[in-house]
Amino acid sequence: MRSVDYRDADRIVTLLTARHGKLAFIARGARRSKKRFGGALQPFAVLGVEVTLRGSQLGTLLRAEVSRAFPTLLGDLDRLAVGYAMLELLAELSPERQADAGIFALALEALAALDAAELSPLPLLLAFELRLVALAGFAPNLQSCGGCGKRPGPEQAALFDPRRGHLVCRDCGGARERLSARARGALGAALAQDWKPLLLADWAGPGELTSLRQAIERFVEHRIGKSLKSLPWSPSEAQANEEPCDEG
Ligand SMILES: [Zn+2]
Repeated sequence: MRSVDYRDADRIVTLLTARHGKLAFIARGARRSKKRFGGALQPFAVLGVEVTLRGSQLGTLLRAEVSRAFPTLLGDLDRLAVGYAMLELLAELSPERQADAGIFALALEALAALDAAELSPLPLLLAFELRLVALAGFAPNLQSCGGCGKRPGPEQAALFDPRRGHLVCRDCGGARERLSARARGALGAALAQDWKPLLLADWAGPGELTSLRQAIERFVEHRIGKSLKSLPWSPSEAQANEEPCDEG
């Protein structure tokens, strides 16, 4: 997930592992000899590794080999930007030293999908965000008003409050993010781990997708208590959505 220089010759790498969750290791000599780990210490690869684990201390990475690479992802700036946003969110939400098979499988599936040229990266990012928050145990409630419990009809749009993480009906004061019935259906499917409706939806325009992402990303940032640095928003998108937000 991440690799930073350490001392003169080493690197510290953070891996998402199948058996131990998120873990950091020291890769000794990684900067002195490029041959030692080859290209295996770059983000976005599935690796086979040999490590030593040392309780709560930093373990050592002894050997790493790329077992699966994602060349289409690595060769496309838009896909890379989405990929870094996915890795940042994974790093935030993966439990340390604790295996999570669902999160590990989602990470693999997301890299493969991002490497598939026919899938567009921004709907993938949105679907990934929803699936990951659901696996991490804090899915937003897109089914009913958090104030009175009223459920919008299946064909009805609804208002979503990203800070509170639930719908708010007009009687309860409303909220600023409007979710169309179609959007609620697709977001709900992603929360249930099915990202096809979000990927296949023929969105009215990039604006609809952008505002959906901002609603979900605000929700995630509020829950984790910090802003995510790698979200690929273009400055114009960010500005267009900077109206003041009434928290009520
Ligand atoms: Zn209500």
